[in-house]
Formats: sequence, C-alpha cells, structure tokens
Amino acid sequence: VFALFTVGNMNAQKKPYLDKNKTIEQRIDLLLPLMTLEEKVGQMNQYNGFWDVTGPAPKGGTAELKYEHLRKGWVGSMLTVRGVKEVKAVQKIAVEETRLGIPLIIGFDVIHGYKTLSPIPLAEAASWDLEAIKKSAAIAADEASASGINWTFGPNVDVANDARWGRVMEGAGEDPYLGSKIAIARVHGFQGETIADLAKVNTIAACAKHFAAYGYVEAGLEYNIVDISNSKLYNSVLPPFEATVQAGVRTFMNSFNTLNGVPATGNVFLQRDILKGKWKFDGFVISDYASIREMIAHGYAKDEADATAKAVIAGSDMDMESYLYVAKLVALVKEGKVKEALVDDAVRRILRVKFELGLFDDPYRYCDEKREKAVVGSKANNDGVLDMAKKSIVLLKNEKNLLPLKKSGQKIALIGALANDKNSPLGSWRIAADDNTAVSVLEGMQQYKDNQLTFEKGVDLLSQKATFLTETVFNTTDKSGFEAAKTAAKNADVVVMVLGEYGFQSGEGRSRTDLNLPGLQQELLEEIYKVNPNIVLVLNNGRPLSIPWAAENVPAIVEAWQLGTQTGNAVAQVLYGDYNPSGKLPMSFPRNVGQVPIYYNKYSTGRPIDSDKNVFWSHYMDVEKTPQFPFGFGLSYTTFDYKNLKVNKPAFSKGENVQVTVEVTNSGNYDGKEVVQLYIHDEFASIVRPIKELKGFELLNLKKGETKTVTFTLTEKELGFYDNEGNYLVEPGTFKIMVGGSSDVGLTSGFEIKE
Ligand code: BGC
Repeated sequence: VFALFTVGNMNAQKKPYLDKNKTIEQRIDLLLPLMTLEEKVGQMNQYNGFWDVTGPAPKGGTAELKYEHLRKGWVGSMLTVRGVKEVKAVQKIAVEETRLGIPLIIGFDVIHGYKTLSPIPLAEAASWDLEAIKKSAAIAADEASASGINWTFGPNVDVANDARWGRVMEGAGEDPYLGSKIAIARVHGFQGETIADLAKVNTIAACAKHFAAYGYVEAGLEYNIVDISNSKLYNSVLPPFEATVQAGVRTFMNSFNTLNGVPATGNVFLQRDILKGKWKFDGFVISDYASIREMIAHGYAKDEADATAKAVIAGSDMDMESYLYVAKLVALVKEGKVKEALVDDAVRRILRVKFELGLFDDPYRYCDEKREKAVVGSKANNDGVLDMAKKSIVLLKNEKNLLPLKKSGQKIALIGALANDKNSPLGSWRIAADDNTAVSVLEGMQQYKDNQLTFEKGVDLLSQKATFLTETVFNTTDKSGFEAAKTAAKNADVVVMVLGEYGFQSGEGRSRTDLNLPGLQQELLEEIYKVNPNIVLVLNNGRPLSIPWAAENVPAIVEAWQLGTQTGNAVAQVLYGDYNPSGKLPMSFPRNVGQVPIYYNKYSTGRPIDSDKNVFWSHYMDVEKTPQFPFGFGLSYTTFDYKNLKVNKPAFSKGENVQVTVEVTNSGNYDGKEVVQLYIHDEFASIVRPIKELKGFELLNLKKGETKTVTFTLTEKELGFYDNEGNYLVEPGTFKIMVGGSSDVGLTSGFEIKE
C-alpha cells in the first residue's frame, strides 16, 4: 500500500492532472496546457483495432502507421479491440510509452449484448418493458466492461418507418415517444442512472446515434440522402436524441446521410446549434466510420483538408477511421483555417469522458482477467437475456386454440431451416459473440419431452455460404426436402414452422426491396398447409415482414424476431404456455412493400374517409390502406377488457395537467400482462398533427379475473408539438384521446385546452 501511495504521489507531482482531489474540470485545466497541438489532435483520432497482440509488432501498411501513431500519443481511442489481453496491450502503449500517458477510450459496437446476446434492439422494443430493456443494456455493459471495453456505440435511437432499411433492427421502431423512453432506459442501462455511475467498473459510456435522421434514408436505401420536412425532424427524429442528452448520454455519433444537402458530419446546424447549443450537450461527438472522408464523395468537401476543416468546425470531435484529423488538422490550425479553440473544446469533451470513466485513475480498471472469466457468459447473464427474449415475443394470431401447445400426448412436426439454425437467431451486430452460439428452436422444444417431436428442415434458406449477401445466394431451386417435411406434417397434430430472414439479412448495408419470406419458404409454407393446416408459424426476422397469405390462412403466428443467445428456450417457453406473451409491435407490418413507409402516427388527408364506392377518397386500388398488423398490436393467451375511460375534467387551462383513468380487466383464462396505451389527437392546430400519437403506456400485470385502474397524467410535455422553426408549442383547442391495447382499437374520449 505504501509503495502504491508513493508512486501515486510522484505521478501527481509530474502529472498534476492525476490528482484525484481535484475536480474533473480542474484536472482538464491542468492537462490541456501541457499538451502539444499534435497531442491534442491525437485525442481526436480513433483507429480500428489493428494489432494481434499475440504476434509481433505490425510491419507495413496502415497497421504499422497506426502502431507508430499510438506510440507517439496521436491516438485517443480505439474501436473493436476485444478482450482484456488485447485492450491491456494497447492501453499499455498509450499509458506507458507516450509523454503524457493519456489512456485510450475503447469503443465497441455492443448493440444487443457483448457475448451473451439479448434480442435485437427492435425486438426488445416490442416488450415495452423499460426496466427489462435497461437491465439488458446493463448486462451488455457488464460483459463488455469485463472484456476491457468502456464505451459502446449505442443506443441507436433512429426513428424509422421504412422496413426496407436493414438498420431498423437496431432501433426502437417508428414512434418517437416509445423511442425516447427506450433510449433513456438504454442509456441508464449502459451508463448507470447518473454520470457519477460511470466511475463504476461495470458501466460504460453510451453513444446516441446516428445524428441525425439516418432512419429516413430515401426509399430505405442504405446510405442514401435524407429529405424530410422540418416538422418530421423536430417532432419525430430529434426527440429521442434530446431525451438521451437529458439522460446524461456521454457521446453522440453523427451519420452517413445528408440532411438538406449537408452531410450530418459537416452539419453545423445539427451538431453545434442543436446538440451543443440548444441542448447543452457536454460530452463528445464521434464521426461515423470514415464519414468525414465520405464528405468528399458526397461532393460537399473539395479534398481531405476541406473535409477535415468542415467536420471540426461543425462539431465532430473525434474522427473514426477517416485518418484525416491526424493527417490534416495540425496544419489547418497552423494556417489559421481552424481555430485552436475548437480543437481545445473537442479535446476537453473527450478528456472529460475519460476522467468520468476513471481511466486516468486506473487505466487498467477494465482489464481484469478474473472478472472477464467470471462475468462473460455467466449463468446470471444468460438468465437475464432469456427473460428479455421472452418479453420480446409478439403473438400476432392465435386461432383454433393452437397455442399454447399441449404439453403431452401430441405429435409435433417442427419444420424450417431456421428451426435448427444456431446462428441466424443471434441477429446482426454481434461482433464479439461466437458463431452458432444460440439455443435453436429445435433445442428449446426438445426440452419438452412428453410430446413426440419430429424435425424436418424442408428447405435450405441459402444455396451457398453467404459472404456478401445478395438475393442470388438464397435457395430458389432446391426443393428436395419438401416431401419429407410434408410427410412429417401429415403425421402430426400440430406443425410448428420457423420461417423468416437469414441472420445477416438485416443490419448495416442490408436494404431490401421485398419484405416477403425469402427463398422458397413461402412455397414450403403453402405446400405444408395443404397437408396439415394446423400450423403455428414462428417468424425469425430483423424487420417487419409482409406476410399477407400467412396472415389470412395460417391459424397461429408468433413474432419471435432474432432473440439472441437464448432464442430457442424463449420460443419454446412461449409456445408451451410457460410464458404468456405480452409483446406489442414497435413498427407497423405492411400488407405489401408498396405501402411502405407505413406508420400509425400518420396525418389525415383532405379526403380521409374510406369508401369502397368512391374512388376519389385516399386509398389504394389494389390493397387495403391499413397495415397487416399495426403498431402497438400484440395478443396474449388471455384477453383484456377496457372500460370507464375518464378524463378528470372536460376543460383545462394551459399548463394544467390532464388526468386520464381507465379500468382494465383480465377477462380470460390465464394470468397475463397488457401494455395499456394512450394516444392523443390534437384535432386542430397551426400545423396539422398526426391522427394519433402515443403519449403514455403502462405495462400492467393482471391475474385472471383481476381489474386494475390505470392513471395517465398528460403534462405540457405530452400535449404540445414543435413548429417548423423548432419552437415547442402547446395550443388551445380540442383533443381526442384513445386508450387501448393497440394503436388501432380503444375507448375514446376528449378534452379541451382553453386559451
Ligand atoms: C456504423 C456505426 C458503427 C460503426 C463502428 C459504422 O459503419 O454506421 O453504427 O458504430 O460503423 O462499427
């Protein structure tokens, strides 16, 4: 202890910023003036992992360059370095070989778990269970921090309503209200409740991304431009981001898209005016991967120096893998093209987060091999993700009493290549997890031993091993497994079919123009139906699908997304009724892709009334206007009745809170949970308002026969909206309210806000 104390003291003398008795801002004030311009710019530079620590130091190419820069103190952060051994090795260079010994902040895409995987984020959103979502993020933080990581590039808070875009799997769906609540839960799950909790060893800094409007890439085409109204920007895109700032998120990531012709990375309005100005965000902004360089391809920056200057001026504090700040910024400052004050501000923000994480006090605090062994893949974490997985499942249809399955005396045919797939259920964005580590649905169902279970895959999803996924790798010809599957189905009481998307069919770079079941799966489904229509369809997918034939014909449909490590156990427990499903869709499911974008919080047209007879109402000629399954929809094994919706007064003055109560009864035969949802409609306003907007929800536990009263309080925060200049307004007028178990059903009432 004495020895440690003296070393600490000596360090504190030579390196006054190591003095723990000073505040973080004081410590930054002591450190900044000691830094050369090169060292400051170095803090703004992030490199992807490049060095296998088990081998010799890298020679040649970018790896050698990065290694050299690291040793000079020209690297402030690294991403995708995994495991304590690797992190320790790079941290050692930063801390022991550089002049000032500033530790690295180590980033990683911990998107839905580190090694023990939770459901994909979109699936978690279907739980509407904020406590469970927070806990899931905390499990991810626990494992990541035990593996040397102290910063995740999540949560993704991109509101999105175009299921063609593959990255809808990373977000919380189409609604800004639900999205904001989930964003806050995830930030607190990763970081802890307050910024002070960052100093704990099992928390990590979070990153709200992608700022901003990436969820609205035109036509769902990845990396495309974004062209949206101010109204959409202020009312749909920005609220979840602002919520994360209020929740104390420490970092932001900007995005690849342009907005009004300006790349988000070079966007002064977004990063300086809104984020750091209006919202007073005091953490730092990381660029997206090479997005600074991409400003050249966008045609917004003339060359590398121009891209660098524009990014720094716009408030992008750290360069992820563009190699540009490190190459160009020092000269730009010396030439007077970028003010050194901007560099100082960026570095201060980065150092602040490093101090908050406790990295200066102990750079190796996340490098504890013992903890890594104990925590990663622990039983507790597996139990946690199993719980989250069950809560994420949405029952879409349940006719003929097929579900829950009887536990004994049944012949069950399990069909579909995804049923024994241990990889696809892990979903996209699971860099640290090993392949084939999911419990398959087959394995999950095998736990229930008193039925006779037969498995036939029926058809392969892919025709070849996919390296880069194109439609051509899907199997569209080989039907050789059909006959065996049909025989199994014919001999069964119930057929469980697991169909859907290949695991990497969603995620970054995975846009689709079709939302059907890929490959030969639809054909297999229809063939099986001919021999045995008692089908329970279990969907595995990373985005809303369009399944009109199944929705019409198949008696039972379970949306099981990609549920992570514990997929098969979660699915089996729901199918067998050991868990009563309570999930509700966070995104509308279209009838066909031509309806996309389709979302519940749409606007009324001037011709709103549907009429079969009059072709001049707003409608399609070839498909119903409604979604197949709406936002907020999901069934249970029990039923819920709503009655006595009441508003405490008919009229309110501005600033007064509105209280809404409703009675909900579990009227069925099982204990269950219901997500009680409250929507409002501002019937007349200075800017037209959506026909419905979610403004409250409560996850209610009800025993069978039980009734509870739910109370919602609507404050100014729920009753207003942003005008086209970004001002928040609460306008007098009449409001309709709707309360129910989905966005498309419910009791209605109303109230007025007086002048
Ligand atoms: C993605 C980000 C991600 C980053 C680092 C980018 O391509 O858009 O979401 O955090 O890569 O992996």
